[in-house]
Amino acid sequence: MKEFFAGLLDWIYKKKCYFCKSSNESVKMCSKCYNSLEHLPVKINRIVLKKSVYCAGVYDKNLQKLIRGLKYHNQKELAVYLAKFMYEYWQKISDKNNFQVVPVPVYPKREKKRKYNHMNLVAEEFCKLSGSTLNKDLIKRIKDTKPQYKLKKHERAENLAGAFQIDTKNLLPMKILIIDDICTTGSTFEEMIKEFEKHDIFDITCFAATTPFEE
Ligand SMILES: [Zn+2]
Repeated sequence: MKEFFAGLLDWIYKKKCYFCKSSNESVKMCSKCYNSLEHLPVKINRIVLKKSVYCAGVYDKNLQKLIRGLKYHNQKELAVYLAKFMYEYWQKISDKNNFQVVPVPVYPKREKKRKYNHMNLVAEEFCKLSGSTLNKDLIKRIKDTKPQYKLKKHERAENLAGAFQIDTKNLLPMKILIIDDICTTGSTFEEMIKEFEKHDIFDITCFAATTPFEE
């Protein structure tokens, strides 16, 4: 029943912008709302275990809504907008397409509940735009971690310890670009890098859509 009403609401609002609800462009994100997203300066946002972390956009209202809609509210169609926004930033960092793009994995049970891993969708679109290669089977999440935002800094590292596992047979002979939605303390990237380094994989760059901290 709940799904029926969700479907009905979707149908009614299909032709409206998810953000301003008022555009008549018949798209999920109208050009005015998309253009309100703002890129961060083109520079390394921080260094995690000697790897560069880039963050694409200012942590503002519409970018947060875009990520939340995609992640928690079943708004799959928003993936193209987030991928486009990240790609427009990434073009200024690198014009090469010799990357294997690795989206941060979600624990299988959680992915099933959400019906999809939103970062897989974003990575897929990002690869279409950049010509890079999607590699979503390289690393798995083997631990059902708690949401990081609920935890204190020291608890975050503990929560994520041993959360990821590489399947080396899926490794491609290319540089790795890990992509995520929000980089808060950087501990997710950190834990993934540790797992890659255990397997002697060091050529890694990290890229998040946004960060609440401009460092
Ligand atoms: Zn709009």
